[in-house]
This record gives sequence, structure tokens and C-alpha cells, in this order.
Amino acid sequence: MNQDLFAAVESRIDDLVALTMDLIGFPTVNPPGEAYRPCAEYIAERMRRNGFATEFVRGEGAPGDNDRYPRVNVVARREGKAPGPTVHFNSHIDVVEAGQDWTVDPFKATVRDGRVYGRGACDMKGGLAASIVAIEAFLAARPDFPGAIELSGTVDEESGGFGGVAHLARLGYFSKPRVDHVIIPEPLNKDRICLGHRGVWWAEIETKGEIAHGSMPFLGDCAVRHMGAVLGAFESDLFPALDRRQTRMPVVPEGARRSTLNLNSVHGGQTDDFRPGLPSPNVPDSCRLTIDRRFLIEESIDEVKGEVVAILDRLKRDRPRFEYAITDLMEVQPLMTEREAPVASAVAEAIRAVLGREPDYVVSPGTYDQKHISRIGHLHDCIAYGPGILDLAHRPDEWVGIADMVDSAKVMAAALDSLLYRR
Ligand SMILES: [Zn+2]
Repeated sequence: MNQDLFAAVESRIDDLVALTMDLIGFPTVNPPGEAYRPCAEYIAERMRRNGFATEFVRGEGAPGDNDRYPRVNVVARREGKAPGPTVHFNSHIDVVEAGQDWTVDPFKATVRDGRVYGRGACDMKGGLAASIVAIEAFLAARPDFPGAIELSGTVDEESGGFGGVAHLARLGYFSKPRVDHVIIPEPLNKDRICLGHRGVWWAEIETKGEIAHGSMPFLGDCAVRHMGAVLGAFESDLFPALDRRQTRMPVVPEGARRSTLNLNSVHGGQTDDFRPGLPSPNVPDSCRLTIDRRFLIEESIDEVKGEVVAILDRLKRDRPRFEYAITDLMEVQPLMTEREAPVASAVAEAIRAVLGREPDYVVSPGTYDQKHISRIGHLHDCIAYGPGILDLAHRPDEWVGIADMVDSAKVMAAALDSLLYRR
């Protein structure tokens, strides 16, 4: 039924590759947030040629926003010929730093063996390019479509999305009645639908002590030893308990299909600024631990915090002079769109049509911009779907397969067709 759409995508393969290469050419490295404006302008120019109205929305006041590194987002919208729903494709334009060990220039895209190489090829300029070409193919085949189509290029996903999707969501760009369905073309593989992600709680725990001369530690109170007791209790009680907690969320990789805790950093006593000299002999009076707890849809944030606090309170009861403070750094609720949700079923149907197989439903171990669309925009018909292999993201010699981009562009075009025509 959608053969004309698929043919329209097929006829644009060279253009899809060229577009991906152009996008990689903008070194939109975050931090600090390089080249956001020219990249956003490039996308706007392209979408204007497609008959879209475009606007730039700067994430004023967001972390990192300043005149040297403005957080410039672009939103493009084209109205159809009749009233109907709005489908929105959202991609982040920022990439992480290139790092070492590249065999090609990370910001001068290279095509080799059916792949486009460059920083952001996979995460997620290949997905952005595929969604643009999907829209262009759709417009060519269905010029009189009902409803509306939107596409946004947003900043700062890699650093939390505060100047990007969160900012736009706060302004109403990701809420009904403006938008009904959102697809985020993150690199989850062309046959996978990502329904959401686990929850996040970051916190800092500080144990306190009393400074004294290191030759007479009994005169002070060692904050690092107190932290050692915290870590010991985590090892004996918390980690095994988290490991046993399974979820119905189809998280990939499978190792993340349970609760996890990462000890992100620990710091006690003097900084190591003394190098290459020697430190002074002090008993540390403070030790700080940053924890990164990822939790499941079956857990509540209050329970998650409560079990850590219970361990700390027990130590306070049992351990002489144990004092602690705990500070929340960030929290994100877990979320999971239902498989039966309109956007998930439209993409599933399109995957069956294009690839001839059932989609895999997955949940991301970490978060992405869907959290802001759900929490701030209160829009829940949202998934991530796009080409590329997630494991390649952020790595040297990152690449995206051209055939994968073509297939996922077909899937996006077909999903657009079924959502707008309510097929
Ligand atoms: Zn990404």
C-alpha cells in the first residue's frame, strides 16, 4: 500500500547521505555547545524549502547558554490541507566530544562500505537526516495530507536537555493540542521501538569527621572511615538487594533489567593539588560520595531514597560519631509508553511492512529527551525510533549504515502516513 512512499525514499538515497554528511560537518560538540546556530539555520533552511514555517527558540537562561554558545533550537511546522493530528520528529543536534583514536576526521564525514562515518553519525545526525528525508518523501507522495508535521532540532540532550527539549516543553511545544505524536530518531536499531527509560536518582552523600594531626588520628574523627562504613553497608545490603529486583520493563542490554547503582565518585580529605609534593598530615573531616541510582517502573522514588537513608540512619545509630548529609542532585521518573499507544503501533506496523518482521520493544537503561516531553509536556504518545547501533554512540569511528537509514526513513514515512490518515 505504501510502495509509492518507499519508492520516494529510495529515489533520495544520495540526498540522504549528503544530508547526513552535511549535518556531521557542523561540530556541535557539547559541552560547550559549539556551532548550534549554524546547524539550526541549516536545518531551518532545508525545512523552509519543504514548505515549513520555521522558528528559532533559544534556551535563554539554561545551563551553558551565553552569547558565545547560545542554545539555539529550531522548530519547523507545516500545516496539512485539512484538520488532523500533528506528528513531531525530534532530534538532538548536539554530539559529545570526538575523543581519541579516530582513523577518520570526526567532523568531515567519510563514506565507506555503505556506512557514513563521523561524530554524531549514529547519535543522532543519521536519525535526523532519515526523518527529514522521510518527511520529504511523504510530502512528494501525499501532498494533500491532513493534520500537520513538525520537526525540531534541539540542543543539549547530552547534558540533560534543559536548554533544548525541556525548554521547548515548558513553552508548550510538546503538549496537546499542538502536538499529538512524537518520534525521537535516537539510534536504537531500525527494528526496535524504544518505549521509555528507567528512572534516575543522583545524590551526594557526605560523611563528616573532625580534623586533627595525622600522627594522632584518635584526636580527630576520620570522615573517610565513616564513608568506608557506608560503602561496606552498600556492599553487604544494598547491592545484593538491587540485583534481585527484576522488572517487566524490556530494558536493553539485559543486564540493566534490574535496579542498579553506580558509585560515580568519592572524594575525601585534601585535594591532590599537592602533587608532585606531599600532602600535609591531616585527618579528613569530610568525605563525599556521588551515587547514580537507576530505578524501575515498579519502584517509587520515595522507596529508592528511603532505602539509602535507612542504611545511613542505621549507621548513625550503630556507629559512634557517625554524621551524614544527603543532597539530591537530580531525579527523573521512569517511563514506559504502552505498546498499544498510537505512535508505537503505527511504527510497529511500519516495521512489519518495511522489514517483514515483528519489532522488538525495548527500554533504554539511561534517559533521553522523552522524559521532558512526558513530565513537562504531559504528552505520553512518544517513542524513540531510529537507525544506528546504540553501542557505537560516543565511540571513535562512530558510523551509521546507509541501508539502515533508508529502511528507517521508510518506516518513519509509513508511520507518518498511518498517523496522519488515522489508518
Ligand atoms: Zn542521542
